[in-house]
Order: sequence, then C-alpha cells, then structure tokens
Amino acid sequence: MQAALEESRDRYLDLYTFAPIGYLTLSADALISEINLTGVGMLIGQDRQKILQRRFALFVRPEDRKRYFRMIAQAKRDGERHSCDLGLRHGDGSTFHAQLDCVSEMAGGTSSGMRITITDLTERKRMEMEIEKLAFYDSLTRLPNRRLLLDRLQHATLTCVRTGLHGAILIIDLDDFKTLNDTQGHDAGDHLLREVGQRLTICVRAFDTVARLGGDEFVTMLEGLSGEPTEAASQVKAIAEKILATLNAPYLLGAEEYRSSASIGATLFGKELASVKDLLKRADLALYRAKAVGGDVLRFFEPEMQTAVTARAILDADLRRGLQEDQFVLYYQPQVNHEGQQIGSEALLRWKHPTRGLLSPAEFIPLAEEKGFILSLGQWVLKAACLQLVAWSADPGTAYLTLSINVSAYEFRHLTFATRTLEIIDQVGADPRKLMLEFTESSILGNVEEAIVKIDTLRARGLRFSLDDFGIGYSSLTYLKNLPLDQLKIDRSFIRNVLTNPKDAAIAGSIITLGKSLGLSVISEGVETVEQRDFLFAQGCREFQGFLFGESSPIENWSSSPDS
Ligand code: C2E
Ligand code: MG
Ligand code: MG
Repeated sequence: MQAALEESRDRYLDLYTFAPIGYLTLSADALISEINLTGVGMLIGQDRQKILQRRFALFVRPEDRKRYFRMIAQAKRDGERHSCDLGLRHGDGSTFHAQLDCVSEMAGGTSSGMRITITDLTERKRMEMEIEKLAFYDSLTRLPNRRLLLDRLQHATLTCVRTGLHGAILIIDLDDFKTLNDTQGHDAGDHLLREVGQRLTICVRAFDTVARLGGDEFVTMLEGLSGEPTEAASQVKAIAEKILATLNAPYLLGAEEYRSSASIGATLFGKELASVKDLLKRADLALYRAKAVGGDVLRFFEPEMQTAVTARAILDADLRRGLQEDQFVLYYQPQVNHEGQQIGSEALLRWKHPTRGLLSPAEFIPLAEEKGFILSLGQWVLKAACLQLVAWSADPGTAYLTLSINVSAYEFRHLTFATRTLEIIDQVGADPRKLMLEFTESSILGNVEEAIVKIDTLRARGLRFSLDDFGIGYSSLTYLKNLPLDQLKIDRSFIRNVLTNPKDAAIAGSIITLGKSLGLSVISEGVETVEQRDFLFAQGCREFQGFLFGESSPIENWSSSPDS
C-alpha cells in the first residue's frame, strides 16, 4: 500500500515538474517533503535543497496565515479538497497572489501529509486591474471617467449631508479646443488634453477628484469646504482662479507654443441632499453662462453665490484703491477715568467708500485679513495714530492723552510685527509711552512664547498692551498669568446687561477683581448709562469707554481741548 502511494506520488511529481503550477507535498509535521521545479521557482528561486524540510506556512504572508491554517485543519478533518486565495512570499521578500488547493493524504482515518498546488494569480490580478482601469478610468488622460466620478459624487453628497460641510463640482471646458483639433490634428489635441489633466491635478488637493467627462470637458470635485456657503463659494473661487491661471500658461505642442483658456461652471452641494444628475446639470448651466460672456471665467449656478463672490471681488479691488487714494480715516472715542475726565482715546477705523458711504471695520476687516491686505492697512492705522499723538503733544491741553489702536491677529502674528511697529513710531517721532496696543486672545493662540517676545520688545520701548474683548474668547488664566499686559478691557457684551442679568454682573465684577489682583488696569467698554458706570465703579472699575462719554468721531469734530 505504502509503496503504491509512493509510486503514485512520484508520477504526480513528474507530471507537475514542468507544469505552470507549483506542486508540493507536506509531511505529517507540515514540512515540505517534495516540490516541483515551478514551485521552487515561485517560492525561492533555483535551489530545491534549500526549500525541502522547511515549514510551508513560513511562505504564507503573515496576515493570511490564519486562513491558511484553517484550510489545512479542515482538509485534515474531512479529507476533501479545499482552496483559498492568499499572498505568498518569494525568497526576496516580495509577495504574489496565489490560489492554493490542498488535499490531505489520509491513512487510517488520520492525515499523514498534504498535497498542495499553487496557481500564480499575478497575471489574473493584473488583468482584473486593467479591466477596472478600462471601466473606471479614461484611457487618454488616466483620470477617473464619468462612471467613477458619479460614484464618488454620490458618496460626497452623502458625506456633506452628514458633516454639514460643503462640496463643489466645477465643470471645466476648454475654450476653442475644436479649432486646435481641426487645424493641428488629433495628436496635438490629445497631447493638450493629457497636459490639461495633469495641470488640473496639481491645482487641487490630494483628496479632491479630477475626472474627464469626455471631449474637452473635465470635472473637479472639491470636498471639505466651509460649512458657511459664502465662505465655501470664495474657497471655490480661489481654486477656480488657480485653475484658470494654470490652464492659461503656454503649452508646448511639438515645436509650437500654444495658448488655451478655459471656462468653469460651478455649483455647491451641502446639507440638503441633491441628486448627482441635478448637480451636473447645474454646473453645466453655469458653464453655459461662463461661455456666454466669452470664456476664461468662473460662473456659479447659484445666483446668490455669484453675487457674493462678485461683491467680494469688487470689495477687494476697492480696498486696494482705497488705500492708494486715502479713503480711510480714524475716528476717536474718548476713554475717561472715574471722575469723567478724558485720559485717552481709542482709534477706530472707518472707510469713506466712494459709493457705499462710511463703512465700519466689520464690513471690510475680515476680507482685508483674508487677503493679507490687513498688513498695509494696519501700518496705515499706526502711522495715522502716531501723527495724531504728535499733534496732541504740541498742546498742553492734549499732551497727556493716550491713544489705543486695534491690532488684528493676522498683523500681530506676523514675524516682523514688533520691528515694523517701532520703525513707524520712530519715523513719525511719536512718544511710545502714549500708545496702547489692543489685541485679542486669538492673536496669541498657539504661540504664547513668540507673543511674549514681541510684547516684551515693544514694552521695553514704553508701549502698553491691552487685552481687548476680554471674557468672550478663551479667557485663559494661563495667558493672563504669562502675558506681560497692562490692561484688561471687559467686553461690552457683559456691560450691556450688567444691571439686569446677575450672571453678567458677576462676570464683570470678577474680571475687575482678577485684573486688579494681577496689577492690571481694567477698562469697561460700551458703557451707555450712568447706572452701568456706577455699578462698575462700585465693583472697582476706574476706567470707562462708551456712548455715555462720547461716540467715536473724526478729529475735526473735537473741540480744541478735551477738557472743555
Ligand atoms: P472693539 O475694539 O471692541 O471696538 C469697540 C467697538 O464698540 C467700536 O465699534 C465702537 O464704535 C463700539 N462702541 C463703543 N462704545 C459703544 C457703546 O457704548 N455701545 C455700543 N453698542 N457700541 C460701542 P467699531 O468702530 O465698529 O469697531 C468694531 C471692531 O473693529 C473693533 O472692536 C475692533 O476689533 C475692530 N477695529 C476697529 N478699528 C480697527 C483697526 O484700526 N484695526 C483693526 N485691526 N481692527 C479694528
Ligand atoms: Mg478695541
Ligand atoms: Mg472690544
């Protein structure tokens, strides 16, 4: 019986020696006892001796071993043929996909060994991937095709409903592509399309999708945009502008330089679930509008988004002109002591817009910050304030007045903030001891050390620092402990109801106590009534600002001496 088995095994082995399948047998203790040449080649290379008597499980990729052992155990129990797909390791450490088939050799009801065949699936996997590529990717540009885009879009719309963030699709269509195709041939056209695909991919973030719908139509799908629609629209606008500029750069087609522009139609999707078909239709309609004005532009489907981004673009251009043409002015609001005498002022920025009238900071500071424009604006404010201090210093009736200016977080965080501030003060020749800089906690977020260095540098020259809007931000006691400050400014939201809301009263009272015990002066802003002032005074506050003592107004409206 044993001899017959051996003989059949030998024949089996012979049969498999040159077969494209690996064949091996395992002894009862799971060591490789026989293996054909193909099997040797698959697992280790050339030398059969190196592989005999080794444990086959060691060639199975570690993450697949559990499945492998389960299959072997099953085969030993029932004597049936079993198979599974798993990864095997080559001698060099690389892995390949394989199908294992195994049958247990049964002797007297127990397993005396195992026959295993290995089929290399590498080629099949490659084919499968190739097929997937053909089905989901565009063969010319290698970008996702319409099918894959629709699939991802479906996914993205559901995600947005859940997260409350926005996504956007932008349909991008080349202007005048047909002319190129007709005059320079399809090769030139194909070349351009491939290059456009590559350029688009560079313009977006790694998790965004760039797809080709066909012809000269591409789509980018953006995800993770702001939850606030106008903010999301301006993010889309920024990316679209980058795309337009990138696609406008010259292309080299053969020896020729070629220039092309594109039009973009965009639509947002967000909290409300929209169908994928509708979204593409909307973006297409927007694209049609972009083409209608001559191309090389972005158009939104949503009219209100279009208005918002247009308004911002206009405001942006206006801001630049406004600074060149001296349209900004400082208004001054008095700050008084407990006896009602003026001790200083806060400078508050206003924009005399040529068509929209007088604008308050809330209407333009956020955009100025976003565009980095706040730096020039802040320097303008500082310079104007210094000039005012110099003017006051000439008159004994005003020479003692201090001036507070507001510094935005963006300015404060700028590397050269301290040096530039000192430069301007010296240039104008103002007394730094009369200048107070107001900043908010957001300015120091994340980098207290650096903030301390800046504040120390400026305080060494006599400038003073006030923490504005205190109480509504993080109101971190650690900041208070570490920052070299001079003043706390209680936010006016606590003052407003200080007489009617016991919680506001308690908070205002505590801030005053806290400030005093830290050796800081405390000023209340937004004081509108005598009763509010009296209450704050009773709590220990000694400095006030608000409509009760004067609204902000241009310097021309001031009488010659604030005491009069
Ligand atoms: P802020 O520094 O907290 O300024 C106080 C704001 O409260 C001013 O508004 C002022 O007009 C208003 N206010 C003063 N007293 C009262 C009052 O009794 N009742 C009420 N309801 N309001 C009062 P404004 O001028 O619109 O300024 C708003 C914010 O814009 C300022 O808040 C400040 O953060 C910022 N800002 C103003 N000027 C500048 C500037 O030159 N640069 C920067 N970066 N920001 C500025
Ligand atoms: Mg302020
Ligand atoms: Mg304030």
